Amino acid sequence: MTPEPRPGILDIAAYVPGESELDGTAPVIKLSSNETPLGPSTAAMDAFKEAVSHERYPDGSARELREAIAAAYGLNPEHIVCGAGSDELLGLLAQAYLGPGDEAIYTEHGFLVYRIVILANGATPVIAPEKNVRADVDAILEKVTDKTKIVFLANPNNPTGTYLPYDELQRLRKGLPENVLLVIDAAYAEYVCRNDYEAGVELVSSTDNTVMTRTFSKIHGLAALRLGWCYAPGPIADVLNRIRGPFNVSAPAIAAGVAALSDPAHASKAADHNEQWLAWLTDRISALGLEVTPSVTNFLLVHFPDEDGRRASDADKALKAERILLRRVIGYGFPNALRMSVGTEDENRKVVAALKAFMENDRSAK
Ligand SMILES: *Cc1c(COP(=O)(O)O)cnc(C)c1O
Repeated sequence: MTPEPRPGILDIAAYVPGESELDGTAPVIKLSSNETPLGPSTAAMDAFKEAVSHERYPDGSARELREAIAAAYGLNPEHIVCGAGSDELLGLLAQAYLGPGDEAIYTEHGFLVYRIVILANGATPVIAPEKNVRADVDAILEKVTDKTKIVFLANPNNPTGTYLPYDELQRLRKGLPENVLLVIDAAYAEYVCRNDYEAGVELVSSTDNTVMTRTFSKIHGLAALRLGWCYAPGPIADVLNRIRGPFNVSAPAIAAGVAALSDPAHASKAADHNEQWLAWLTDRISALGLEVTPSVTNFLLVHFPDEDGRRASDADKALKAERILLRRVIGYGFPNALRMSVGTEDENRKVVAALKAFMENDRSAK
């Protein structure tokens, strides 16, 4: 007899990562997982290699990394908890605050890890509709019941690239009951160039019931190492420290994270590259007659016309023939869109050329 997992677990559709391989040996342009085209800082790679030669357990509290994060962002290191990617922290938050009978809210096109961690803890996912592919504060507040325990909000969101300005975030926090934990997932915060954006530090500092999660996977280019952190009120940090693995972050990851923060010029270079090419890509892809959701991140959501031979599935095939991998986003409620991460100049130009050929070929075929 097969042992039965807890209710909810078999309702989980396992997360499908962006594709990374194609048949054959020719190089692949992989723009399917929102990684930075610049890679990590050399300081981070050197620190990683150096740390690999020490075989002892890491410092379980990751003190050096928490202090480096605190110094970089002006935070209290006691209110920071590090994790094996921010995904681990999202899971720990759900584990600590959700159980059977509870509800947790996320938005219509929200990051799918939320659904997984809600179901994994026996709670009920509640989906709030979005407006113009952006989170809608009123719709979230309408979904709140006596059972609501957490609201998960990616700001900006993946895969839409849209964001809520700080005044809307404040309005959300004010409208939520005080016993509801608001989790602001700011994985792409470093890419946002908008005056009305606030990653979450202000809201965490000024309330007892808000947590911000961050990652080294995106602008710092350390996705392979699995390194994230959260900023939380003291009692919530205390809860997470009780349930996390005692050595949940590896020593090489701690060393690389500290070194990455010591090289802010590398992150600025990545942000500058992104600002330039995000605008260029939005412009060029729109000019092909494709709808692009305006993005503040390092990726864009491209919508295809729902006509014979010009659907997202056809575009995906045509791009793969050119050895370009973008991300299908069917599970996010976009059967007819592809998500593209901003790549190197050469990669960006190749994608636009391939999309142009795709749109033209198809038209001439009709
Ligand atoms: C990439 C991403 C993360 C980061 O996950 P890690 O586990 O830190 O690699 C978190 N949230 C969103 C919305 C993301 O797109």
